[in-house]
Amino acid sequence: MPYNITLIPGDGVGPEITEATTRALAATGVAIKWDIHQIGEAALKQYGTPLTLEVLQSIKKNKVALKGPVTTPIGTGFRSVNVALRQELDLYACLRPCKSYPGIKSRYENIDIVVVRENTEDLYAGIEFKKGAKDTTELIKFIAEKGQRKISADSGISIKPISERATRKIVTFAFDYARAHGRKKVTCVHKANIMKFSDGLFLATATKVAKSYPDIQFEDAIVDNLCMQLVTKPERYDIIVLPNLYGDIVSELCAGLVGGIGVVPSANIGDKVAVFEPVHGSAPKYAGRNKVNPMAMMLSAAMMLRHIREEKPAQRLESAIARTISEGKTVTYDLKADPNDPSIATTSAVADAVIKKLKEAR
Ligand code: NAP
Repeated sequence: MPYNITLIPGDGVGPEITEATTRALAATGVAIKWDIHQIGEAALKQYGTPLTLEVLQSIKKNKVALKGPVTTPIGTGFRSVNVALRQELDLYACLRPCKSYPGIKSRYENIDIVVVRENTEDLYAGIEFKKGAKDTTELIKFIAEKGQRKISADSGISIKPISERATRKIVTFAFDYARAHGRKKVTCVHKANIMKFSDGLFLATATKVAKSYPDIQFEDAIVDNLCMQLVTKPERYDIIVLPNLYGDIVSELCAGLVGGIGVVPSANIGDKVAVFEPVHGSAPKYAGRNKVNPMAMMLSAAMMLRHIREEKPAQRLESAIARTISEGKTVTYDLKADPNDPSIATTSAVADAVIKKLKEAR
């Protein structure tokens, strides 16, 4: 019986990396029946909304989705569909493994950091008040009446909720992941010295949860210091658990440590469903150019195979990608030292190379 899995090709470079990835998945021998849906710009054009009920129903029914990146207009237009999807499906944990693959030219080697990002709260909760709107004026008045700070009348406001419940869930997820994967240390990241009631709660809750895991080392770090430590001594870190916004930023920093965003996968995990996608965005300037690295999406697909307990095909896919990288012959521009290197491979050529290795390994 094939697995029924929802497939969302996404915007920009999404369709071409999705095509490369589904071809590689087919070569693993795992039978998958794709339930294909659009979200983002493509859905907006077709259905008048960037996120349809059908997509949510499909993911709820299939319980697993593979997703390409989706464009979010900056400043105006629709809210992030990615954020909405994570909230609608309560995909509370975002897992972003940042691992060095031999052959990638990077300042560091042997990095193996897993970023565990809370995915539903924080400044990404989407609670925003537009400059000059009636509600915003009332909120500014309310805050002044409560004796808090005077907020300038021409302000826009974003709210940062951090709850004990969601923090307990994400930190427990990080510790359980550490135990299940033989990891040694969890670092809780915050800015509790400044934001005492949001980040302070995150830290206090994490410290409580850590007490149930005496076998795993626990430490905390202030986010600005963490960034400095990460670029100077990245080998010190194992699992990093953070609220939503810091998690987004720090995971890109970690992607930079291992050679860039073209090789970093992610999983958005809830109690009932999971959505796998590359960390990178839709890179609109490269759309349709058969240029970008499909490996981040392929590695996300390998995470998806592990999630559905297809461990061996997952290992074979990851190892075919790792061998393609280490040979260095068929890799995209981002993995080449010289951007004008004539041997730079296209997206589809990388897929062909990975598939060839998968077939050789059978
Ligand atoms: P981006 O799409 O990740 O692209 C930023 C840069 O990263 C690119 O210009 C390129 O660098 C590099 N890059 C991205 N994907 C790559 C790949 N597969 N292979 C090699 N290099 C790659 O970030 P953005 O330009 O900030 O965002 C574009 C849109 O994507 C926005 O609308 C944003 O909201 C959205 N986005 C969506 C998701 C998601 O769907 N989960 C995540 C992040 C952003 P060079 O210029 O150096 O070649």
